[in-house]
Amino acid sequence: MTDIQLLPAVVDFLARPHGHFIDGQYRSGDSDRLIDVYNPSTGQVVSRFHDASAADVDSAVQGARRAFKGAWAEVSPYEKGVILNRLADLIEANGEELAQLETLCSGKSINLSRGLEIAQSVVFLRYFAGWATKITGQTMTPSLPSFNGERYTAFTLREPVGVVAGIVPWNFSVMIGIWKIASALVTGCTIVVKPSEFTPLTLLRIAELAVQAGVPAGAFNVVNGTGRAGQALIDHCDVAKVAFTGSVPTGIAVGKAAMAANLTRATLELGGKNPAALLADVDVDAAVAGILQTAYVHQGQVCASPERLYVHRSKVEAFTQKLAAALQQLKIGSALDQDAQFGPLANQAHLQKILGYFERARSNNTVVCGARQVERPGYFVEPTVILANGADDPLLHEETFGPIVCVLPFDDEEQLVTLMNDSPFGLTASIWTNDLSKAFRLIPQIEAGTVWVNMHTFLDPAVPFGGSKASGVGREFGSAFIDDYTELKSVMIRF
Ligand code: NAP
Repeated sequence: MTDIQLLPAVVDFLARPHGHFIDGQYRSGDSDRLIDVYNPSTGQVVSRFHDASAADVDSAVQGARRAFKGAWAEVSPYEKGVILNRLADLIEANGEELAQLETLCSGKSINLSRGLEIAQSVVFLRYFAGWATKITGQTMTPSLPSFNGERYTAFTLREPVGVVAGIVPWNFSVMIGIWKIASALVTGCTIVVKPSEFTPLTLLRIAELAVQAGVPAGAFNVVNGTGRAGQALIDHCDVAKVAFTGSVPTGIAVGKAAMAANLTRATLELGGKNPAALLADVDVDAAVAGILQTAYVHQGQVCASPERLYVHRSKVEAFTQKLAAALQQLKIGSALDQDAQFGPLANQAHLQKILGYFERARSNNTVVCGARQVERPGYFVEPTVILANGADDPLLHEETFGPIVCVLPFDDEEQLVTLMNDSPFGLTASIWTNDLSKAFRLIPQIEAGTVWVNMHTFLDPAVPFGGSKASGVGREFGSAFIDDYTELKSVMIRF
């Protein structure tokens, strides 16, 4: 099949001079550093943008600060919810344009951009909009002594922290951006988002839609640039909170920089090396379908995806053979081809990293399938299954963030728990079994922010998400996000 036809709106948008969205306006920026944006399906440049200067970052934070104290503070909680719902409607109405833009920059299958990146962003936004009228404090009665009949009462207020710096990776730049934008706006904060230099465009278009939805100028800004722009944002003295999603090494640097800048609070959603356990009673066909759906979606470039598979020894042969057979059937093709089932990696640097893992696997491991580059333009590799070379195999311990699953047999559940927890990461895990009593015994023993049973990688706005151990600090979704975007103020009254 061939690529879909790009909408005229997408062609026009790509041709614009790109930079930033500051104080309600599209600004190309004044820096003379231009950064190319590549289509991962072809390796060709599709657009370019002006790297943010220190003045651009300052201007965005100043605009956000003014809106925080002014226009956005004056909007009632009910109206905030209405505006966010209106933005959700506009994203839905412009969904095809946004999906095409995102696919062009990220290499995400157009089906996934439409059905997950954009469609789920709408779902999350509507969920967050519902919180606008439900952010409350508590009342309490102090037990202070009363000498002359005086009495006391106390209550708490949840107040927005201020300007949020949202730093977003390239793998789900719209959805992860929306998580941070919605969390900030619904709690009364304002935000400056810094997308990855690889996926700078779609949030710019969404910022325009936000103005149309009624978000006042300055409440939602986008600055585009490299990590340097992110660093300048974190260092800014008017930033009250950093909401970061990305890799562990960058997350540690970001956490330290935020602390050094102004004791700025930071939530860090970081990487993982997520285990999936296939117990002895597992339904092999269902597990193959489930792992295919979750470990290889977006070419494995999903933080929550399983990369370490501990399979009961009795099922290793059947599972790996069936998984390899299914992977070899996948149609590899351009991200804009609706019939393709497996697309490119997101960028050249990531391709080189994954090829490095392939080289190591070919010299140290049994490769069940894949571990090869696909000979065509763009950044394509084959979906891969590797047998681990013992529990200490580095391929069981380093996050590849690619379509590489590493399999190790286990014999009993005590050994399984030790293997699953043998990692500095603790983002997600899954158990595949028909025996729920086994699953319930295992769940409390597993060190992870989320444990799934007979599924993996699915996120829902009502269910908190975040990492334990080195996979992060803080939780998104549910009501958990409210604590991170608000300050608790206590009020005591004598009467
Ligand atoms: P990354 O290299 O850590 O970058 C993340 C973001 O930080 C990008 O916008 C990046 O800009 C920016 N950045 C880089 N250096 C910075 C600095 N010194 N100060 C401030 N910002 C800086 O991560 P990535 O490669 O984009 O994404 C993949 C990683 O994200 C994986 O480890 C994955 O597991 C993790 N992830 C976690 C979650 C989660 O919810 N836990 C979700 C998705 C992804 P540039 O891209 O322009 O350099």
